[in-house]
Order: sequence, then C-alpha cells, then structure tokens
Amino acid sequence: DLIIFWHRRDLRLSDHVGLTAARKASSQIIGVFCLDPMILHREDIAASRVSYLIDCLQALQESYLNAGSQLLIFSGSPAKVIPNLAKTLQAQAVFWHQDVEPYAKSRDVDVAQALKEQGIRVETFWDQLLHSPAEIYTGNEKPYTVYTPFWKNWITKPKSESLSQIANLTGLSVAEQEIATQAGAIALPSAKDLGFVWDGAWLLPAGESAAIDQLEAFSSSAIFDYQEQRNFPAIDGTSRLSPALKFGTIGIRTVWAATLTAFEQTRSEESQKAIQTWQQELAWREFYQHALYHFPELANGPYRQQFNNFHWDENYDRFEAWCAGETGYPIVDAAMRQLNEIGWMHNRCRMIVASFLTKDLLINWQWGEKYFMQRLVDGDLASNNGGWQWSTSSGMDPKPLRIFNPITQSQKFDPEGEYIRQWVSELRSVDSEDLVTGKISPIERQSLGYPQPIVDHNLQQKEFKRRYQLCKGD
Ligand code: FAD
Repeated sequence: DLIIFWHRRDLRLSDHVGLTAARKASSQIIGVFCLDPMILHREDIAASRVSYLIDCLQALQESYLNAGSQLLIFSGSPAKVIPNLAKTLQAQAVFWHQDVEPYAKSRDVDVAQALKEQGIRVETFWDQLLHSPAEIYTGNEKPYTVYTPFWKNWITKPKSESLSQIANLTGLSVAEQEIATQAGAIALPSAKDLGFVWDGAWLLPAGESAAIDQLEAFSSSAIFDYQEQRNFPAIDGTSRLSPALKFGTIGIRTVWAATLTAFEQTRSEESQKAIQTWQQELAWREFYQHALYHFPELANGPYRQQFNNFHWDENYDRFEAWCAGETGYPIVDAAMRQLNEIGWMHNRCRMIVASFLTKDLLINWQWGEKYFMQRLVDGDLASNNGGWQWSTSSGMDPKPLRIFNPITQSQKFDPEGEYIRQWVSELRSVDSEDLVTGKISPIERQSLGYPQPIVDHNLQQKEFKRRYQLCKGD
C-alpha cells in the first residue's frame, strides 16, 4: 500500500498535513523531490536559494532515514517523473500540498492528469497557510484586495493545532530501491553540480531542527520586543524565519502555536501588542499568497493597470549602481550589500531600497523584483511581488503614495549608523551624524573610495510625482 508524498515547499516531517493524512492511510510512505528544470533554469533563480534548498533536502533525507523510509531525488519534469515512478513502484496514491503560484498550479494539473490516466489516486491538501485561499472572502464572496479588512477576518477564524512528528514508516526494500534507481532516482546533487555557486553565510541554518530552534529562541525572547525593535536593521529584532517559511522547514501551525504560548507568558500590554504585530506579519504573508492565487496576473505586471503607462527610465548604469550598493546613499548601499552577501535583507531596508529604485531612480519595479529573486534565500513570488507592488504604489494598497526619504529613514532607523558601518566598509571611519545624514563631502567620498550620490532625492521625487500624476487617472 505504498503512498508517495511529493515534497515541494514542505521540507520537514513534523506538523505536516499531507504526511499526517498519508500516515493514517498507510505506514508505507516514501518522499520524493523532483529537481525541476523549469524552476532551476528560470531567469530569476538565486544561487543562495538553490544552495539552501539542497541543504534542506539533505536534512530531510536524514529525517526520512530516521523515520524508517527514504526521500528519493529525481531530476526532470514532474509530469513525467512522478507518474512514471508511481507506476513503476505500483504506488496506490500520490499526495502533495497545493500551492498558489501560477506555474505550480498548472504543473500540478498536468501531474494529476497523468496520474489519473494511469489509475493512480491523487490527494492534495493545503499546508503552507493557516487559511487557504478558499477560506477568506469578503461579505460579497470576493477575494480581499486590501490588507486591513483581510486581517480582521483572518484573525477571527479558528486555527488548526500543530500536528505531531511523522515516525515509524516503512520505506522501500533494497530491491524496490533498485527499481527506483532504474526509474531515475539519483543521489542528491550539490548546488555546484547544478551550476550554482554560493559561499555566503546562512542567516538561518538549513533544515527542520534549525528552524524549530530559531522559532523557540525568537518566541521566547525577541518576540516580546518586536513592536519596538523590528524596524532597526542593526538589531536582531525579527525572527529571521523567512527561509524556513519559504521552504516549509517549519509548519505554519507550529509557528502560530508559538505565538499563543508567548501570549500566555506575558501580562504586559506592550508585549501582547508586539506578539500581535508579529502575527500580523504572518497574515501579510497569507494575504499576498491569497492575492497571487486569485489574481495570477500579478506575477506579470502591476495590479493597477494605469501603471502600465508609467514612464520608467531605462537607465542601466543607475540600475547597476543600485544592484551593487554603489548609489552614494549609505543606507541604500548597506542594504544592497547585505542582500548580495547573505541573500537576505531586513524588511525596513527592503522598503527603503524598493522605494529608492522606483521613486528616486525612476526604474521599473519589475527590474528590482527580479534582482531580489536572483539573490534572496527567502525569495518568494507572492511576498516579493507583493512587497514590490506595495512599495511602488502599483499594487492593491496604493495609498498613501509612499516615497521614502533615504536620509530620514537612516536617521530614524539606523541613528548611530551601525548598520551602515557593518555593510559599507569604506564608511566605517565616518562620523555617525555625517553617515546618517549622508553629508559626506565630495572630497571625503573620493578619498574613501565611496561614490557621490547618483541622483538628488528631492529632484527625483518631484519628477516621480509628476509622472505619477500623468499615469494615475484617478
Ligand atoms: P519577521 O519580521 O520575523 O516576520 C515573520 C514572517 O512573516 C516572515 O518570515 C515572513 O514569512 C512573514 N512576513 C513578514 N513581513 C512580511 C511582508 N511584508 N510580506 C509578506 N510576508 C511577511 N518576504 C519573503 O518571505 N520573501 C520575499 O521574497 C520577500 N520580498 C520582499 C520584497 C520587498 C520589496 C519587501 C518590502 C518585502 C519583502 N518580503 C519578502 C517581506 C519581508 O521583508 C520578509 O518576509 C522579512 O524581512 C523576513 O524576515 P523575518 O523572517 O525576520 O521576518
């Protein structure tokens, strides 16, 4: 009674909806992961993300072995690989979790179709969200397009409890493993084997146990100060769980349960507010996933059609300076260098650099969206696209028109210039006040080997507003 569980962004054995259902039906369960060229060869793939994925798969393989079974690795199109394997091993069913991304949705239809043609049962589940897109609608049965009413509805819905760890599985016999190899199962390749080189440090070590440790550490301390500290990029004030949530090395119900435990541990109103603010971030993640599920066209362009007429500058020199962290605006450069070095950037800084690209450099947000995807270890179509459209004002929540002043942002959120000094080494000796206000003289910049500002913020934001009026139409 073999059940194949096809893993995608659920690389763990605990708090796992699909595996829990499979385990109820049978103890003979194997996991499969398919390295899909359609994903690995995309233009917006990141070496950091592939490398992280491979490390997560390695950890999951060990977990499967400890549980008595195997995680098999394949390379190729899932619509061929999965049905072929299921047929060869005479599996009774293939289970997987649903996804919100347009490519995943169409891929899954193809795989399900091919399996059904062979008489193999398919069961699918929602796992990566506390509430699936079918659960949260407006009073008029429409998907939400504004966050606040979404949150108000989402928070009132009862949430499932965390599920226990999967154990005591029966895997494939040696002879069956041989058959699987003949059907194309391969040893887990390294990221390098796949053509990706990444030697940056990890924000969060890969795999399930590291994610659980991180959640425990965060939810027993920093969560209580999240409200105050989350906006300061020099402070380790956020959970840093985004890579775990991207790859599902932690279950979302476990994450939710940790917030409830934190609530029980405090009577301070401030701390309770902080926990709720963190829950709201989890809801932003769900809001963007629902949005992408219901409006797949978001992946290809602005939500607000008027933005198709916005006159963007095709200035490659400025774009390259932004990518490299060479704009002459210290906070922007620090953030871009953090991204380039560790494949992650603090949320405050993601907003600052996105505003800078679109509203100071007048460059199309989609260039920035793609560059982020090419670097981020947590790069996720729904959240990234949502964050970029929010920052550009082209998305669902366009008001107020958001233009961040990089100088005021540094003054508020990096007042001592600590974050800037951490990432922009040539500015380490500069006086804090000058660093934060950016008032570093042209001569000093030259002697430090630090660029002059590539644009004037005041002029550029006026120009942005002028162009915005032209395309706005409301
Ligand atoms: P915490 O502050 O601890 O938040 C907890 C979790 O909530 C995060 O791990 C994340 O899963 C979720 N979350 C938090 N903020 C947001 C948000 N604004 N939108 C959606 N989910 C959120 N997040 C990604 O996971 N992948 C991306 O590709 C991504 N791209 C972004 C691009 C831009 C331009 C912007 C402005 C934001 C983007 N974000 C993205 C959201 C946010 O910046 C990161 O989730 C956050 O910085 C991750 O750090 P953390 O885990 O410490 O977050």
